[in-house]
Amino acid sequence: MRIGVIGGGQLGRMMALAAVPLGIRMAFLDPAKGACAGDLGPLVEGAYDDHYAIRELLKMSDRVTFEFESVPPKTVAFIAEQVPVYPSARALETARDRWLEKNLFQRLDIPTAPIADITDQADLDRALERLGLPAILKTRTLGYDGKGQKVLRTADDAADAFAELGSVPLIYEGFVEFDYEVSCIGVRSASAELAFYPLVRNEHRQGMLYRSQPLADHPLQRLAEAAVGQVMAALDYVGVLAFEFFVVGDRLLANEIAPRVHNSGHWTIEGSTCSQFENHIRAVADLPLGRCRASQPVAMYNLIGAMPERNAVMTIPGTHWHDYGKDPRPGRKIGHITITAPTDKQLEERCRQVETLLVNDLG
Ligand code: AMP
Repeated sequence: MRIGVIGGGQLGRMMALAAVPLGIRMAFLDPAKGACAGDLGPLVEGAYDDHYAIRELLKMSDRVTFEFESVPPKTVAFIAEQVPVYPSARALETARDRWLEKNLFQRLDIPTAPIADITDQADLDRALERLGLPAILKTRTLGYDGKGQKVLRTADDAADAFAELGSVPLIYEGFVEFDYEVSCIGVRSASAELAFYPLVRNEHRQGMLYRSQPLADHPLQRLAEAAVGQVMAALDYVGVLAFEFFVVGDRLLANEIAPRVHNSGHWTIEGSTCSQFENHIRAVADLPLGRCRASQPVAMYNLIGAMPERNAVMTIPGTHWHDYGKDPRPGRKIGHITITAPTDKQLEERCRQVETLLVNDLG
C-alpha cells in the first residue's frame, strides 16, 4: 500500500518512519522546497490547491491522509473523488474552524468555555458585554501555536481587536483560569476499532508546546476518552485525533481538536508500545491497532529555533534525539528530545539535566 500525505513537515516524516517497517510507502505534497519529509519518500513541491501537483501525488497514493487541518476544502473534495481520504472531509472542515468545533462539543454536551462568534467590531462589543472579561479572541481558522490570538483584559484591549486580528471571522472565548493543560490522543481505524493513549500534561511557552508528559492512571482519563470517542464517532473519524483540554479542579473543559498526529504525542515513539504515528498508519491502512500504554516513565521537550549540543544531550541516559532536518529559525520547531527512565525519580533527574542544555529561541 502507498499513502499520500498532504504536508511534508516533521509529522509526515515521523509517519513515514513508522510506515516503512509495515511495508507501506509514503509520498508527500508540500509547497515548501525541500520539506523535511522528503528525506523519507518522494516529495511533490506544489501548492495545496494546485491540481497538477495533487494529481502527481495521487499517482503515488492508494489513500491520502493529512499532516495538518488547514487544507483547502476543495482540495480535500478533489482528492476524495479519486481515493479514500482519512480523516474525512467533514472531520477536517470541523477541526479547521474553531467555531464549528466548539459547536460540535456543545452539541455532544462536552463542556467548553463560554463562546461567541464575531464577524465585526459590533459583534465583539456585544460579546464583551454578554460574556465579560478576561477573554481570549482567536481567528476561527488558520491559527496555530498561539498565533492569531489576543488576550483581552480590559475594554481598551478590545477596542481595535477585530481589525488587529485581520478583520476575519473570530471566536470570543471566556478566559479559563485552568490548573493545567492536558491532551488525550485517540485513534479509530477504518473498521471502527478504538484505542486511547494516557492523558498527557502539556506546558506551553509563548503559546508553543514546550514539554509533554503522560500521566499514569489520571482520574480524568475516562472522561477524556469518552469525549474523544464521542467526537470520533460523530465525525465517523479514521486516524489519530488529539483533543486538548483545560483541567479545572475535577473538570475538563474542551479547548480544541487536531485531526492528526500531534506534538503532544511524540513521546509515544519510544515511550509506548505502539507510537501515535504507527497507529495512525495502521488506522488509515485498516490494520489492527497497537497498544497505547506508556511502557515506562517518559517526557518530551520540543527543540524550538535552536538546537542544543547534541553530544551533551545524548550522554544523558535515556535520551532520544530527534532532528527534523529543518533550518533553525526563531519560533520554528526543529526537533524534540524524548527522555525515558526506569523510575519517576530518575526521569525527573534526567529532565532537569536536559533542561539545563536547552537553548530554545522562541522568537
Ligand atoms: P489554542 O491555539 O486554542 O490551543 O491556544 C493556545 C494556548 O492559549 C492554549 O494552549 C492555552 O494555553 C491558551 N488558551 C487558549 N484558549 C484559552 C482560554 N479560553 N482560556 C485560557 N487560556 C487559553
